[in-house]
Amino acid sequence: ATLMRSLVKKRVPLQMGRMCYSSVSTTKLFIDGKFVESKSPEWLDIHNPATNEVIGRVPKATHEEMLAAVDSCSRVYHTWSETSILARQQIFLRYQQLIKDNIKELAKLITLEQGKTLADAEGDVFRGLQVVEHTCSITSLMLGETLPSITKDMDTYTYRMPIGVCAGITPFNFPAMIPLWMFPMGMVCGNTYLLKPSERVPGCALMLAKLLQDAGAPDGTLNIIHGQHNAVNFICDHPAIKAISFVGSNQAGEYIYERGSKNGKRVQSNMGAKNHGVVMPDANKENTLNQLVGAAFGAAGQRCMALSTAILVGEARNWLPELVERANGLRVNAGDQPGADVGPLISPQAKERVNSLIQSGVDEGAKVLLDGRNVKVKGYENGNFVGPTIVSNVTPDMKCYKEEIFGPVLVVLEADSLDDAIKIVNKNPYGNGTAIFTTNGAAARKYTHEVDVGQIGVNVPIPVPLPMFSFTGSRASFRGDTNFYGKQGIQFYTQIKTVTSQWKAEDATLKSPAVTMPT
Ligand code: NAD
Repeated sequence: ATLMRSLVKKRVPLQMGRMCYSSVSTTKLFIDGKFVESKSPEWLDIHNPATNEVIGRVPKATHEEMLAAVDSCSRVYHTWSETSILARQQIFLRYQQLIKDNIKELAKLITLEQGKTLADAEGDVFRGLQVVEHTCSITSLMLGETLPSITKDMDTYTYRMPIGVCAGITPFNFPAMIPLWMFPMGMVCGNTYLLKPSERVPGCALMLAKLLQDAGAPDGTLNIIHGQHNAVNFICDHPAIKAISFVGSNQAGEYIYERGSKNGKRVQSNMGAKNHGVVMPDANKENTLNQLVGAAFGAAGQRCMALSTAILVGEARNWLPELVERANGLRVNAGDQPGADVGPLISPQAKERVNSLIQSGVDEGAKVLLDGRNVKVKGYENGNFVGPTIVSNVTPDMKCYKEEIFGPVLVVLEADSLDDAIKIVNKNPYGNGTAIFTTNGAAARKYTHEVDVGQIGVNVPIPVPLPMFSFTGSRASFRGDTNFYGKQGIQFYTQIKTVTSQWKAEDATLKSPAVTMPT
């Protein structure tokens, strides 16, 4: 984090508002409370997505370094898990304040490494902060249950206990929010935590670690390693690690779920999505069009809850020209530029993939009503920009419908009735999020009951639940039994001990052995 701060300080303005770095810095590991330089011979470049300039390097941690990190977690677990719950709560109370105090600096770092606009980057931190705030209720969240007098002189009660060393593997698209879904929940329950952030945006996790240290978290309670497949395999295989939280693509998530589970670990795996917005003709037009545009193109479509597919029902199909007009009004620019609505994609490869998925729609008979493929951003000609794109006449058999595009592309289907729209949504393998736009309560109720999706918005385009609930994606968007944060997050990071105790008065003492099953 110190490194990242000095990196931010080294920022020097160039002509046309561009920013660059006077030198390339290395990303540290965080082991046993120290930010240490890796001895790895293998390093990856980190790019600013708006310029593609190299802004830093991140190591693929060596086996010895990964062992040191997990050993630190194991060693400290014994004292941390016995620390009083009030002491742990105090640390997270201080932590939430430190995150609030540093939100702008965290956001700058996110924009630099990930590309999203500064306002959106603040939202990224804020949604993670809400989870940290929720962890401060741990004294209520971790309560067990009691049932007195299950028989004469006998009571049963449960404790929620931590499970040991837990690990998190995170994606590039929310550098603050998703790590904050993980280690604060795990640690406040008394576990120690090993985090492997996305190698494309590692800086924010280090800054979050520094703030946690400043809040009083003892050395070794959080360790951070960097890397790709080797680091992931290490986490899936190391016997000291009892649970893995993963967020990212299906390719990685299914693999991690299987490998981790086979090794006897708990795994929760949040994965890809194709979220449908169903627009009924009775919807409030102004509100709906604005919400669709915001949710499809915000964060350049790189959100797992982006509303990337619209189904226009009946007469709502006539709203297409106005939808295009609004999307066309968004300003594409580097995330740190004033007024930017849509920033760059994470990499040139991501840009190429998105462009080729748009082209696949054209090849299969869809119509591109708004084409962002050739967008030019003055002063940022080398950035990974794709402008808002709307593809209509899309059918469920097309590649651009079947694949998660993860870019600023809205594909539009049409349906004659709500029933037809529900059939389309339920046939899609993903079940992360969806929204219906309507003024008809009966239609909204029917939709919420019949659609097989984990998170549903009624006139709410991105219905990501607040942390007193849980993030409940389903079907191909999730593997595991207990979801992230909320009550389910506490379940994931704890195990239950059930105690049955009998205290008899002296005169009720058993006089002979009881060999039948107690009833
Ligand atoms: P990604 O799967 O490429 O990377 C995620 C993590 O897995 C990284 O730490 C990476 O190092 C590791 N990884 C990548 N490929 C791997 C492989 N083959 N084997 C083992 N580990 C691997 O995902 P990403 O591109 O960083 O993020 C975008 C994806 O994440 C999208 O599909 C998006 O929908 C999904 N996502 C889902 C949610 C959710 O809550 N459902 C939230 C955010 C993002």
